[in-house]
Amino acid sequence: MAYVNENYLKLKGNYLFSEIARRVNAFTEANPDKKIIRLGIGDVTLPLPDACIRAMHSAVDEMSKKESFRGYGPEQGYDFLIDKIIKNDYNAKGISLDTDEVFISDGSKSDTGNIGDIFSGNNVVAVTDPVYPVYVDTNVMGGRSGALDENGKWSNIVYLPCTIENNFVPSLPEKRVDILYLCFPNNPTGTTITRQELKKWVDYARENNTVILYDAAYEAYISEENVAHSIYEIEGAKEVAIEFRSFSKNAGFTGTRCAFAVVPKQLYAFAENGDKVQLNKLWNRRHTTKFNGTAYIIQRGAEAVYSDEGKEQIKELISYYMENAAIIRNGLMGLGLTVFGGINAPYIWLKVPDGYDSWGFFDKLLGEANVVGTPGVGFGPSGEGYFRLTAFGDRANTIEAMERIKNLKF
Ligand code: PLP
Repeated sequence: MAYVNENYLKLKGNYLFSEIARRVNAFTEANPDKKIIRLGIGDVTLPLPDACIRAMHSAVDEMSKKESFRGYGPEQGYDFLIDKIIKNDYNAKGISLDTDEVFISDGSKSDTGNIGDIFSGNNVVAVTDPVYPVYVDTNVMGGRSGALDENGKWSNIVYLPCTIENNFVPSLPEKRVDILYLCFPNNPTGTTITRQELKKWVDYARENNTVILYDAAYEAYISEENVAHSIYEIEGAKEVAIEFRSFSKNAGFTGTRCAFAVVPKQLYAFAENGDKVQLNKLWNRRHTTKFNGTAYIIQRGAEAVYSDEGKEQIKELISYYMENAAIIRNGLMGLGLTVFGGINAPYIWLKVPDGYDSWGFFDKLLGEANVVGTPGVGFGPSGEGYFRLTAFGDRANTIEAMERIKNLKF
């Protein structure tokens, strides 16, 4: 008889997005003439930059000729891409990295989800709350969660609330934690923290032998000077942090799939006998055993992100989405709503008006404005009373959605 990993049985289905789909379907069935505008899911809508498309076309042509055909590549990624990443994303900020500290992958979802493989099931994990659900669910799968309580919290996970009360800057944990997930700029709140605040986390991790898993998927949206683009801008961070970056949100690779993880060689965790173990070696072992490399064609496309033309085109993509963000922010603030995010991230996080909870506001927006957003509570208990709208929509739809919302009475 084969037995299943019991941890999977603890997980509920993906309640958030299936419940959204259920409510939207019920609404459209009852109101087939209504045009729904979706500002819910964090997927991009503009096509890939032309520089990337051309690079991929030419890589396809290489695949058609015996002399330039490529089969399996290095699991960790091709040097042509890793070198560009190091030069542009890190050296340009005064950070040095070796080629074997960067691991190309098929996405930050996979990387942030798989990283738990190299950590013991006994680690105490902390997450900010609300949070990108992958961090929590994969720790449930890995046996680090304990049981779910009636408030939607796992008993062995430490939740660090991010709410209006602390201006979305999480406080240091009261009890020591072994692993800490940070995501800045943040999904879902769209907020971020300053370099000085990030330094407190790096110092905490250094004092407590904590490993920080730093998700910088939205780094390209940072517009303010005092926000770090990489955690390694903070002194000593290489000894405590793994960083995750993605081409999904800057260059629109959500459907094309390319990302990378940085695992510095100075970063260690402990074996049960007290020996220090280099996490770079472990991740390399994991990556090369379970992953066979991101497609050559895609890596050539990602390389073009760093060409002059690619950089210019990406700037345009980001400014398009951030103009959407401004339209949403200003529209909501004009209605007297309390709004966060949308300055360093493509998400707008609003406090729902008095008299509503997250789902109540969802129903109001869907029913009366025919606009779909995401109830904050779906991202964790501290998200109750908040609501997320994304700036990744098409411009005309974003403007129309705001016009409709302006006509609502709260
Ligand atoms: N990390 C965060 C915080 C995200 O919001 C997302 C996607 O929405 C991802 C990672 C996933 O990125 P990728 O497309 O590289 O898997």
